[in-house]
Amino acid sequence: MRSTLLPLETWGLFSSGKRPVVISGPCSAESREGVLGAARAVSALGVEVFRAGAWKPRTSPHSFAGFGEEALPWLVEARAETGMKVMTEVASPLHVEAVLKAGLDAVWIGARTTTNPFLVQEIAEALRGSDLPVLVKNPMSQEVALWIGALERLADVGLKKLGVIHRGFTSCEPSRYRNLPYWQIPISLKQQIAGLPVFCDPSHIAGDRSYVSEIAHQASDIGFDGLMIECHQNPSAALSDASQQITPAELGRLLRSLEHRSVSVEDGQMQAL
Ligand code: PEP
Ligand code: MN
Repeated sequence: MRSTLLPLETWGLFSSGKRPVVISGPCSAESREGVLGAARAVSALGVEVFRAGAWKPRTSPHSFAGFGEEALPWLVEARAETGMKVMTEVASPLHVEAVLKAGLDAVWIGARTTTNPFLVQEIAEALRGSDLPVLVKNPMSQEVALWIGALERLADVGLKKLGVIHRGFTSCEPSRYRNLPYWQIPISLKQQIAGLPVFCDPSHIAGDRSYVSEIAHQASDIGFDGLMIECHQNPSAALSDASQQITPAELGRLLRSLEHRSVSVEDGQMQAL
C-alpha cells in the first residue's frame, strides 16, 4: 500500500491502552431499548466501542434486514449515555452519507461487500474527505487480493485509519465453525502492510456461542490487536445471528479470562501458535 496508516491509538476510539481492544454489541440494532440496554451492559464491562448493524445483509429477502437510518439515532443516544464510541456496517454510499450525517465514530465493511470491488470503490468515494476509521472484514472466500484491494481503494481516497477484521472464510470443508479461520492470512497481511491494525471476529467465525470464547483466546494469543464480539441481552430471541451471540454475563467472563492470559507477543507482532 502506498500511504502510511495511522496507529490504532491515534484513532480516538480506544484509550485504555489494553490489548486486545474490544468492540462489542448486538448483531443488529433491533430497537431503541435493545440498543440502549446492550450498550449499558457492555459499557459496564469496559468495552470502549459499541457495534450494532443498522443495515443487515441477509441471505433471504424475507429475513429481518435492519431498521436502516432510523437506527442511527439509537447509536448516538447510546454514545451520549455511556461514553462509548459507536459504529455500524456500511454497504453502499447511501449508508455512508447517513452515517456521516448522524456523526457515528467508525464503520465496518462486511464480508459480502468486500467481495465486490465496485461497491467498495463507491463506498470509498463517499468517504473521501472524511477521516472516519474503517475496518474491512475479509471477503467471503480466501481471496486475499480482494481484501488488500479494498484497503487500497480506501487508502487511495485519503483514509488513514484503516484496519481489518478476520471473520473466517466460507469453506466446503466439514467444520464445527460457521466460517473457517485461516490465521496465517491476517498474520501475513500484518507483515505486508506496516502498522495495519488486525481484529478478529470470533462470533462470525464460530456461528455458535459455545465456540466464541475459544476462538477469542486463540486470536488474543496470536497477537490480534482487537476483537469484535457480538453480544445481546437475550441472544436466542435476536433477530439475526441468534445462535452466535453471547450474553453480557458471558462476555464479562470471556473478557476477564482474556485479561488473565499472558500475551506471548510483543510490539504488535503476530505469530501462529
Ligand atoms: C456482522 O458483523 O453482523 C456481519 C454481517 O458480518 P459479516 O460481514 O462478517 O458476515
Ligand atoms: Mn452478525
